[in-house]
Amino acid sequence: MEGAPQFECPLWCVLCRSGKAWLSQLCQGAGEVLWLPNGLLSSKLPQLFDIHQVPKVFQEDGITSGYRHPRSSALDCILSSFQMNNETVNIWTHFLATWYFLWRFGMLWCSTDFVSDSYNWPLLVYMLLICLYPFTSSCAHTFSTMSPEARHICFFFDYGAISLYSLGCAITYGSYVMPDCLVNSWLHHHFVPFAVFNTLVCTSLSCYSRFLEMPFPHRSKMLRTLAFVYPFIFDNIPLFHRLTLCCEDGCNPSETLFVHCYHLIFAFLTCFLFASHLPERLAPGHFDYIGHSHQLFHICAVVGTHFQMEALLTDMASRRAWLAANTVVPSFLGTVGAMALAVVLNLAVIATFSAVLLQVHHCRAANRGGNVQPTAELKEQ
Ligand SMILES: [Zn+2]
Repeated sequence: MEGAPQFECPLWCVLCRSGKAWLSQLCQGAGEVLWLPNGLLSSKLPQLFDIHQVPKVFQEDGITSGYRHPRSSALDCILSSFQMNNETVNIWTHFLATWYFLWRFGMLWCSTDFVSDSYNWPLLVYMLLICLYPFTSSCAHTFSTMSPEARHICFFFDYGAISLYSLGCAITYGSYVMPDCLVNSWLHHHFVPFAVFNTLVCTSLSCYSRFLEMPFPHRSKMLRTLAFVYPFIFDNIPLFHRLTLCCEDGCNPSETLFVHCYHLIFAFLTCFLFASHLPERLAPGHFDYIGHSHQLFHICAVVGTHFQMEALLTDMASRRAWLAANTVVPSFLGTVGAMALAVVLNLAVIATFSAVLLQVHHCRAANRGGNVQPTAELKEQ
């Protein structure tokens, strides 16, 4: 019987290594563009660590090196984004995506009446939220190594922003994607209130999953995956219904429906990468800096959002006349109001989980006599 397959660095490995070298140069170049002197960068850039040198809470499956100090200062965190470490690509993929979506928003702002034409308010909310989620994620990845508590709180915000993005999807899908036969139905009238409620469930479950990460890692991962998959499925009910109708009726699928399907394919890939931790699980240590699942997850999420935005814009333009004749125009309360309410409620959820987290930390510190060295204390978690 043959032994386990060997991953001895053929083409993909060469690509990863040359990619890492190229990215190192890019980071250095970015530092120079921002007038960060090389002396400052080289003297201030923090040392990187291997997996066994950092507390368990910072360790990632299949990533063996490139860890930043678990008690980095805010300045170290910012400087480390110009240094190749295992978070650099995570930070930049979503930072650049933020600017891409801001640019698209700016272009739309010039050609669309977002103020007085209420038909465009769902798109306004969606554009704000697709700029918010990659920005929050980029910040979370940048500052997640300030302390274990900061790491958890950074990702609480990240999850909150993803939940809000799911609300943005629901508001636009309810307004522009809803199939003709479901327009004015009970589901249509209650779609946004349900989506606001879903953001609370999603944020609460995903924040709670971080408390299970140390004692029950598999349960934690399953819970967090469920927290994101469930609002995604709810939001896409109108689209799934349209696809089902199209299959049943043997219709000629429109160009828009194809673009919606591209989004679904990338959404599926995003979920798969998030849950599977591939490829680094197959070859631990080979994808530490470039090519690990979280980076691919970020890229697929952004590409998926791009296709979703394109499909929404097409639906919005092509269905305007029919929707105007057959249903009421979107209300301020059902769009901007729902977003504002969800922001306040989700911030309250994040504040509650953060307070519980800090309380647990203080109780643990008090139980140990309160004079334990931070790093030693973290390694015990
Ligand atoms: Zn991320």
